[in-house]
Amino acid sequence: MPTRRPKTTEGDPSSVLVTGGARGIGLEIVRRFLNDGYRVAFVATQTNHVQRALESLRGPEDRLCAGVVDVTQQNEVERFVDQIRGHWGEITVLVNNAGISPKRVDQKVPWLSQMSRAEWARVIDVNLSGPFTLIRLLAPSMIANGYGRIINIGSLAGRAVPLIAGPHYAASKAGLIGLTRAAARDLAPHGVTVNCIAPGRILSDLTGHADAAVNRSALSRIPMGRFGTAEEVAHLAAFLASPMAGFITGATIDITGGEFGA
Ligand code: NDP
Repeated sequence: MPTRRPKTTEGDPSSVLVTGGARGIGLEIVRRFLNDGYRVAFVATQTNHVQRALESLRGPEDRLCAGVVDVTQQNEVERFVDQIRGHWGEITVLVNNAGISPKRVDQKVPWLSQMSRAEWARVIDVNLSGPFTLIRLLAPSMIANGYGRIINIGSLAGRAVPLIAGPHYAASKAGLIGLTRAAARDLAPHGVTVNCIAPGRILSDLTGHADAAVNRSALSRIPMGRFGTAEEVAHLAAFLASPMAGFITGATIDITGGEFGA
């Protein structure tokens, strides 16, 4: 049976929405999809980060669009998605990449007993409810189109004992794996795949804030003896978005250099 492809007219590229696309892994995913000929829209929270990303991408203006949008604010998300649909039509690929992993000022992870409910709720809101909001918003048009690709960026911390991240982060990323499976089951009959990428330690602003000792000890646990790069995660996202990955759904794919946690 032939692999399903997006229903677009010839020469009309598919549209991708990447959350948290202004820095780190998200920015490389944006770059990769642009290079692959997609129309790419991305969001982040800081205006200066979005501006800097746009300058670094120097993308073809008709295929690149960005917004200052907080994924926890449903109205902002809806307004931005409406804008993209107005310009480009339906979005066929969604990459839920935006994520936070707050540390204390001494860069240590707050333990459960010291964690406030507000700290817990904020991480769950960004890392888990953000993807829920976007999937709920975009899935109906993917179903109507008979094609879609949803890629959630999880974490090794959601698969193993979290050694660097806090319990809120680990729980949010484990929850994202459950959301991936549930959405995959719902959407599979409609030609929409939903998968999760679970990176180990990848060089980015998020990991750069960890102190040198944390990074040294993280490195010692990676059999490959190095951290991953954002480009490597972007390659995997590009593959999962392609028609070649049409029979993969509900999967969580580790990209960790051989580390599987404690
Ligand atoms: P960065 O901190 O480098 O970048 C995170 C991006 O997400 C930024 O662009 C940020 O916006 C955006 N963002 C944060 N909160 C929101 C929000 N509420 N609404 C919209 N955008 C938001 O992170 P990484 O690139 O390292 O991580 C990307 C993803 O990969 C995350 O989900 C993370 O959990 C996951 N991951 C990362 C690993 C790593 O080692 N780096 C390991 C495992 C998983 P702004 O630029 O405006 O601040």
